[in-house]
Amino acid sequence: MQLRKLLEEGKLEDSAELRKFIDSDSDEEIADELVNVRLKNFEDLRKLATDAGMKHEYVLHYQEESTIVHGHWPALRRYYLEMCREPLHRLHLQPNFALPPLNPQLLDRAFLLFTEAYDLWIKKWGLRDQGTPLVDRYFECCDTVPEVGGTPEEATDSQSRRAQ
Ligand SMILES: [Zn+2]
Repeated sequence: MQLRKLLEEGKLEDSAELRKFIDSDSDEEIADELVNVRLKNFEDLRKLATDAGMKHEYVLHYQEESTIVHGHWPALRRYYLEMCREPLHRLHLQPNFALPPLNPQLLDRAFLLFTEAYDLWIKKWGLRDQGTPLVDRYFECCDTVPEVGGTPEEATDSQSRRAQ
């Protein structure tokens, strides 16, 4: 895209070979921006939250993860770097290719945020609540202990049959 721009501005000599290279999309490191776009609601989320009287929610739910999502130094150090184990290297940091552990509390938090948003949504638009019965049914199923039918020998037989 950069080369195409330079070509159109007359800063590069036109040639069939150059056109062929440009058309091969090998020059895509700078994207075309044909229209100026304003992202409005995403320009300053902190200001939006403050204006809406939700600064507390912003700090509690968004700010902390923002550091991680945007790969700021604390997140890199915490999740993607580890100390070198070679004592003579004086504890420098190096990339860690293991996946960070999943915090199971995040699932609860995500579910809580989802239900809060869902409640706001159905109240605002006066909709019938179709989600709560499904959620209740889901948790009923989670609490249900599956019935184990038959004897252990029969289970083993059916497993060996499936394996064949
Ligand atoms: Zn080292």
